[in-house]
Amino acid sequence: MSYVRLDGVTKKYAEIFAADNVSLAVEEGEFFSLLGPSGSGKTTILRLIAGFTDPTSGDVYIGDRMVNDIPPYKRDIGMVFQNYALFPHVNVYENIAFGLRVRRLASAEIEKRVREMLELVRLPGLEKRRPQQLSGGQQQRIALARALVTKPRVLLLDEPLGALDKKLRTAMQIELRQIQKEVGITTVFVSHDQEEALTLSDRIAVINEGQIIQVGAPTQIYERPSTRFVADFIGQSNFFEGQITSLTRDATVMTTPSGLAIRSESDRALLIGDQVTIAVRPENIRLSAGRLSRANLFEGRVEHLVYLGMSITYHVRLSEGTSIIAFERNDTATSVFPVGSKV
Ligand code: ADP
Ligand code: MG
Repeated sequence: MSYVRLDGVTKKYAEIFAADNVSLAVEEGEFFSLLGPSGSGKTTILRLIAGFTDPTSGDVYIGDRMVNDIPPYKRDIGMVFQNYALFPHVNVYENIAFGLRVRRLASAEIEKRVREMLELVRLPGLEKRRPQQLSGGQQQRIALARALVTKPRVLLLDEPLGALDKKLRTAMQIELRQIQKEVGITTVFVSHDQEEALTLSDRIAVINEGQIIQVGAPTQIYERPSTRFVADFIGQSNFFEGQITSLTRDATVMTTPSGLAIRSESDRALLIGDQVTIAVRPENIRLSAGRLSRANLFEGRVEHLVYLGMSITYHVRLSEGTSIIAFERNDTATSVFPVGSKV
């Protein structure tokens, strides 16, 4: 049974569909991400699950219960937002204890649970600090401890690492995932950062303009994007548009208006003459100075290159005019092709 479920949920603000007929099912214990550009409706979907926003139509389920009419504080949910939202005037201990005091737990029980949470987020000993005496990463761990201390059934995270610098963010991603596994809590995570979603998630829902475009494991989303939007938003792609000109059992050939013929495999039902787009990841293009014996061999010239340390991005102009990008690993075995090289 899925643990969080949205069934045809729409949220309309005046003329905007912030959520447009969204259906999704998050499994128990799963780390599920909502990934999409800014304004695509991610926060709206999270708020619909939490109950801070009422759907215009459709139903929200948590566990086996339809929760449309249940207020947020009774939905058994923990939430962490991008901007910490710790109480600035009380110490770490009281910040974490807050949800337990509201529930009127005995003080011995509160103390036990606060200590457990500080262990969980690897910050024991910081009870007496005020939030402003903590780093950004520490503040987000305290926010996580505060969200988990009431032992909610669902954890909702809205870009919780968004304010951290890149290195700390990467370290916190790994830690967040470990903590989530330790607790085993069903988690819905919002991000506009594709790398972050790929790193953390069991499954990802790609959102655009309030709609779910594709749901799948990170490898499915990256390697089998269902639309051009997904291929473009997650990672980088070279796009080629043209018509199907040949169909055999083991190859489909598409030809562009400029005459580039690309062979591929396709699991779609296609006919000769169909207009299609082919997306090719830059890391799947190999550059070579000599001839290679394989399909999809094209000649071009390096127009520009970007040195990124561990890899090099080449901008190559093919002889019939198309411009493509290719990534090459920067190891000692690969040669570097300077600008102007024929490849
Ligand atoms: P995201 O979190 O993906 O950036 P949001 O869910 O915040 O996107 O917003 C989705 C769309 O709904 C945006 O166009 C936003 O302007 C609009 N929106 C969100 N909340 C409100 C609101 N309270 N009133 C009017 N429009 C809203
Ligand atoms: Mg948002």
